[in-house]
Amino acid sequence: MDCVFCQIVDGKIPSNKVLENDKFLAFHDINPKAPVHVLIIPKNHIDNFQQSPGEMFGDMSGFIQEVAIVTGVDKSGYRLITNCGENGGQEVMHLHFHLLGGKKLPWAQNLSKDPKTSF
Ligand code: 5GP
Ligand code: ZN
Repeated sequence: MDCVFCQIVDGKIPSNKVLENDKFLAFHDINPKAPVHVLIIPKNHIDNFQQSPGEMFGDMSGFIQEVAIVTGVDKSGYRLITNCGENGGQEVMHLHFHLLGGKKLPWAQNLSKDPKTSF
């Protein structure tokens, strides 16, 4: 399996862990875009949001809320993002949510890499 995040789950690639249970893992993004930038993944491989079973989100939302508490952004607020597929800008094909916080985030940060494009 050459999936980077599966290798992180298996401990074959090191990560800076924030929280873990039997189903989910949270770890710091290697290239943080905010003072708090944590990736939250299911331990089982799922390609992306479009492939995700709805039943998973009951447990996952509680886990994400716990990550927000552990990283101290539950009261100050945060942004939760999942990029899905090519047009969504997904680079790692293992479902993950980005939890970003620790500062007031501008809307649509880095959404347009081309300065000529206004959307
Ligand atoms: P995507 O663009 O797929 O939504 O985001 C992938 C994220 O994974 C990026 O923010 C990138 O910095 C992060 N990332 C990629 N490889 C690794 C890794 O080996 N370790 C960690 N901690 N983060 C990674
Ligand atoms: Zn995977």
